[in-house]
Amino acid sequence: MSSEHAPVSHFIRNIVEADLASGKHKSIVTRFPPEPNGYLHVGHAKSICLNFGLAQDYAGRCNLRFDDTNPEKESEEYANSIQEDVRWLGFQWAGEVRWASDYFEALYGYAVELIEKGLAYVCELTPEETREYRGSLNAPGRNSPYRERGVAENRDLFARMRAGEFPDGSRVLRAKIDMASPNINLRDPVIYRIRRAHHIRTGDAWCIYPMYDYTHCISDALEGITHSLCTLEFEDHRPLYDWVLDNISIGCHPQQIEFSRLELQYAVTSKRKLLQLVNEKRVSGWDDPRMPTIQGMRRRGYTPEGIREFARRIGISKSDNVVDMSVLEGCIREDLETRAPRVMAVIQPVKVVLSNFEPGVTSSREAGFHPNHPEFGSREVPISREIWIEADDFAENPPPGWQRLVPGGEVRLRYSYVIRCDEVVKDGDGNIVELRCSLDPNTLGKNPEGRKVKGVIHWLSAEHALPAEIRLYDRLFTVPEPDADKDVDFHQYLNPASLTVVNGWVEAAVRDAAPETRYQFERLGYFCADRREHQPGEKLVFNRAVTLKDSWAKEQG
Ligand code: ATP
Ligand code: MG
Repeated sequence: MSSEHAPVSHFIRNIVEADLASGKHKSIVTRFPPEPNGYLHVGHAKSICLNFGLAQDYAGRCNLRFDDTNPEKESEEYANSIQEDVRWLGFQWAGEVRWASDYFEALYGYAVELIEKGLAYVCELTPEETREYRGSLNAPGRNSPYRERGVAENRDLFARMRAGEFPDGSRVLRAKIDMASPNINLRDPVIYRIRRAHHIRTGDAWCIYPMYDYTHCISDALEGITHSLCTLEFEDHRPLYDWVLDNISIGCHPQQIEFSRLELQYAVTSKRKLLQLVNEKRVSGWDDPRMPTIQGMRRRGYTPEGIREFARRIGISKSDNVVDMSVLEGCIREDLETRAPRVMAVIQPVKVVLSNFEPGVTSSREAGFHPNHPEFGSREVPISREIWIEADDFAENPPPGWQRLVPGGEVRLRYSYVIRCDEVVKDGDGNIVELRCSLDPNTLGKNPEGRKVKGVIHWLSAEHALPAEIRLYDRLFTVPEPDADKDVDFHQYLNPASLTVVNGWVEAAVRDAAPETRYQFERLGYFCADRREHQPGEKLVFNRAVTLKDSWAKEQG
């Protein structure tokens, strides 16, 4: 059994524990707030594990809320896949799925309240003028000429914005905060814009949409969120988050806490860039097994337990979080090591003819699916006159230390006999066509007499093996940080060799494996029956999830 490891403490956990201890909160409420504008990636997995994980560990609740304030970019497809991903990772949100759009009426009401308090105004500056008035990091902004409009006029104009009297982009509602603030987010930020766009939930009911910063804090408060966890780029937005909640009559003020984003080496974790890869057909889709999306990782054969362990291991902090791919792969490998049944496959086959094979005399052996899990059961590993071995398990001119097959040398077939290579048969061009070998009949399940045979190789009976399409994946990018330099197009670092498809052979034992069944193919790695194209008993398609360290080369078969 792979056990769930103990939580790792971090500063957010400390805050939660202090708030529970002091009685500030009786229980905690967190939320995961994706925008349904793409598929989730490994960075989101970190956020999901944090938010849902805290709720689990402290007997609280975690909501799933779609931040659906950008109708043009959002779709039902994305929203559905996000729900599927959260559940697949092993989490369940409290109650119904929530949508920021459920709060549009309430959000409108709070905007009217701000207007009535003289804290919001309708502004008619053009986007260019607005930018110019905003100032810069070094220069304060200037007040909009519309800033001192009266309450009644603002109320009227805002109602007419809602009623559709003005064209898109012609007016906005702005919070009246401080055009000289050193924090640009407080320089009278826009809180509503006019946008005639069809919304996936509210259809054409609205032609004005609230801005993210305004929507998010109020949605949190309406849901009674206690700790609103987000990534560091929102740190400078926190004063606005607090300003909005301090200035409306809402009886809840969640605490926003920021942590650093996960960046994974050899990957990009931006929905926009991932969408580009999909649209430009650089990958086969959002769930291409090379993608760092949750759907991609799932299709590749990663496990939810392995991904959760990864999130636990990388921790939560405010410092840079660029993580080596090997940390993720290590978590997956460790999880699959205990979870995946072990069988044999040959991906670069070379034929071996066993010259002294005797039908009815040469026997096959039973082999368990996992050395530590007898309950996984066993199967027969049949042998016949012709077998497949891996091309690179044979060398005519072996390097020093070679323990596999050589002309005249011996090797053990896993779960079977010791064989010796007697003859190498080649075609006219010098390519190896087959190897003629003989087996030692006294070596089934026991050591040969008078000599040591160190090497053990995997193999398959040609007569019994089933053909399979096997997909070998490498990193999608050739450099650790493909999008680090804003002036260099990340496409140029795409790895042209990130996918290799081979026609190999697998044991008959996997014939009826359901899609998404994971195996260790001994000595080759962990593989997963493809979710989309694998058809049990018909067409076998396996994706390599992660390679394996060859841990049993010195063992006896
Ligand atoms: P992207 O830049 O990929 O579009 P996003 O932040 O815009 O990501 P959202 O849908 O808004 O995507 O994200 C939902 C939640 O996931 C947010 O709370 C966000 O902070 C968090 N999140 C997004 N990317 C990461 C990441 N790389 N690491 C940790 N958390 C992340
Ligand atoms: Mg976002």
